[in-house]
Amino acid sequence: MLQRSKEETILFMLGGSTIVSVLPFGVVRILQGNWVLAAVDLSIVFMISAIIVFVWFTQKIRAASILATIFYSIGMLASVYVKGQVIVYWVYPTMIAAFFMLNAREALLINTVSLSVLMEILFGRMSFLDLSSVAITLVLINLFSYIFSYRTNLQHLELNHQAELDFLTGVGNRRAFNRKMTELFRPHNARIDACLFVLDLDHFKYVNDQFGHAVGDQVLVKFCELMRSRIRAIDSMFRFGGEEFVIVTMRTDQESAKTLAEELRSLVETTVLIPNYQVTVSIGVAKRCEAECSDAWFQRADGMLYEAKQSGRNQVSMAD
Ligand code: GH3
Ligand code: MG
Ligand code: MG
Repeated sequence: MLQRSKEETILFMLGGSTIVSVLPFGVVRILQGNWVLAAVDLSIVFMISAIIVFVWFTQKIRAASILATIFYSIGMLASVYVKGQVIVYWVYPTMIAAFFMLNAREALLINTVSLSVLMEILFGRMSFLDLSSVAITLVLINLFSYIFSYRTNLQHLELNHQAELDFLTGVGNRRAFNRKMTELFRPHNARIDACLFVLDLDHFKYVNDQFGHAVGDQVLVKFCELMRSRIRAIDSMFRFGGEEFVIVTMRTDQESAKTLAEELRSLVETTVLIPNYQVTVSIGVAKRCEAECSDAWFQRADGMLYEAKQSGRNQVSMAD
């Protein structure tokens, strides 16, 4: 079965509970012959059902969430307009629901417009004191919801960021690499000249055996710092696993990729990462070909790394 996103689930739950709670009122109004109120209730039910069906089949959650929030707000305002101030309690859950469906700013914008219209509708129908209480409590509800939604969003971004970092070296991990690849293969990026470098430290098992695992770890950290100091901000580096790393360079032709790989290799060779021991790296490079999938591209670069190792290590091999 199709896995539904968190946003879809929230929309289905809010939509479902609205239908369940408003539909009985609509039915009662019809039985009472109260056609205006019945029309308001049943239009809300109809619109929300239409949005649920739309999202169910298209998964287009973003447009649907904005539409649903606007429908909820209009329905809520129409109810207050027709039924009067006794309905004002429905405004509170409706405004909070907006923060579940949209980002904090969008929800606040829609709610601010709704609140102004609501004040217009209730003006003259309630005492000034009661109207002020409604206005102040709604402003507070929006303020608290905004802060809560904004903070949750920041934590969410921070968690996502942390989940994509390799905790030892600080470069992106395998998950970040996969996301980068997915992004690079989206239609609007598909024509960018990108190169893939697969780097593997030479005889790293020996480094660990000879100097200890802690020194091995420090070498990995310093190696990453060294590589990142040389590549540009638009390039990115990832730890593919163990002592194997990947660098993706953007807008790089064959010639400059070869030059860069050679510079990176020589930088490692000439930098003292362990006193009295020369750490070296082998690098395989492949430029992306048109109509090539990410796996095939990676396989070509990895094949070049194998060739560099076979040619004696501390080498660069570049695919034609
Ligand atoms: P080659 O030149 O063929 O790449 O030889 P190698 O010894 O580097 O390759 P091999 O795959 O045999 O060994 C990789 C070593 O990398 C073994 C493993 O202990 C070490 N290694 C992997 N991850 C870490 C790590 O996080 N820290 C440390 N210190 N060592 C690691
Ligand atoms: Mg190695
Ligand atoms: Mg390896």
